[in-house]
Amino acid sequence: MKTQRIAEILKSTTTDYDITVKGWVRTKRGNKNVAFIALNDGSCVGNIQVVVDLQKIQEEELKAVTTGSCIRVDGKLVKSLGAGQGVEVQAEKIEVYGTADPDTYPLQKKGHSLEFLRDIAYLRPRTNTFGAVFRIRHAMAYAIHKYFNDHGFYYWHTPLITGSDCEGAGAMFNVTTMDLNNLPRTEDGQIDYSQDFYGKPCNLTVSGQLEGELGALALGQIYTFGPTFRAENSNTPRHLSEFWMIEPEMAFYELEENMELAEDFLKYLIRYALENCREDLEFMNKMWDKELIERLEFVIKNDFVRLDYTEGIEILKASGRKFEFPCDWGCDLQSEHERYLVEEHFKRPVILINYPKDIKAFYMKQNEDGKTVRAMDVLFPKIGEIIGGSEREADYGKLTARVKELQMSEAELWWYLDTRRWGSAPHSGFGLGFERLLLFVTGMANIRDVIPFPRTPNNAEF
Ligand code: ATP
Ligand code: MN
Repeated sequence: MKTQRIAEILKSTTTDYDITVKGWVRTKRGNKNVAFIALNDGSCVGNIQVVVDLQKIQEEELKAVTTGSCIRVDGKLVKSLGAGQGVEVQAEKIEVYGTADPDTYPLQKKGHSLEFLRDIAYLRPRTNTFGAVFRIRHAMAYAIHKYFNDHGFYYWHTPLITGSDCEGAGAMFNVTTMDLNNLPRTEDGQIDYSQDFYGKPCNLTVSGQLEGELGALALGQIYTFGPTFRAENSNTPRHLSEFWMIEPEMAFYELEENMELAEDFLKYLIRYALENCREDLEFMNKMWDKELIERLEFVIKNDFVRLDYTEGIEILKASGRKFEFPCDWGCDLQSEHERYLVEEHFKRPVILINYPKDIKAFYMKQNEDGKTVRAMDVLFPKIGEIIGGSEREADYGKLTARVKELQMSEAELWWYLDTRRWGSAPHSGFGLGFERLLLFVTGMANIRDVIPFPRTPNNAEF
């Protein structure tokens, strides 16, 4: 017989039939006549209550049924007389699959701190909070594929190992099979990469965008959804060294359409969560962030503000606010600036566009003014930058001139530049950090708490 998931069983409208449930024991309590076991199988926040008549099942047999143990219960689904649940299982037989010694199992009582749970990230999915977070993570991944599939985008796989170090999005991790204690050298003492696996230096990718553009200039509309790596030594609650990114790239989209897509996409995902993850969101709202659901509903109901970077700087300067970092024209905005605009000035998400070219990547379309590029960052409450994107420079002459100006390697970028030689087209795209989205949707405050196994400086456990 197929084991029914507890999420399904709890919704059952019929009762008095034989049933098997399998899961992990959250708690066991009772008296000398009856024991109550709260059982969870990861399918929902709720537990099913198993009622054990101690006349039928000896107390001795229940010794091994402790918090954290894994059991199978055969019995009958009945209407519950107790408050708090509609149905419960009357146990006929209990089998213990795996015991959990109360003296060593770390998740004994409730109410552990998130920091403690991070240290035992291999067990934290068994808590209510992380169960909820990872179910929401799954739902968002599914919704991302659904959105793009429904809108005529193709899922495009870009390499994780790259030979180009040109995106400039962040410091990279080297990929090598060379013996680090005995590196081959060229005559002039440099490391001889011709003897390495790929015959040249290679890295883990910081973004799939450049290869994404190749897809867009052939299939029209593509998106990537995969891991990216940045060796940036930034210990913040918003940065991981391994994170997942979603990068749509569209031929024939100008910046305007790129912004429309970003707004529609984010609203779709948030609406999807509200409609499909209600119970988990309510749990997160109750436990971690009392304004979570209100904030999610607010974002889908209101237009995002669209604002020039230059105007943004003027607002920041006129604010009279003392920021830790400067915010003169030409400066890259820090999270404190982004959050001021979003949370205090406009009180809604902001799409900031037309940034100074010197703080943005080489491939962004240059504006007529010679100073700015058609970049767009989507700024969210509590997060700051959630999306970074732009219209791409489609003109071969302008793009190569910029590459030269920045003293980048034309030789390495040959294949990318070639797309502008043959059948170039206006095109745009953006990158959404999956974990930044999840911070927003779950109400968690630290990015380490929305990915099962976070990778940050000095931390690659599990
Ligand atoms: P930030 O300024 O916040 O460090 P960025 O400008 O370096 O971000 P982009 O290169 O524009 O980021 O990357 C696109 C998106 O990827 C960002 O908008 C953000 O959502 C996400 N992102 C970037 N770096 C990280 C990181 N280290 N960890 C998690 N998500 C990230
Ligand atoms: Mn960015």
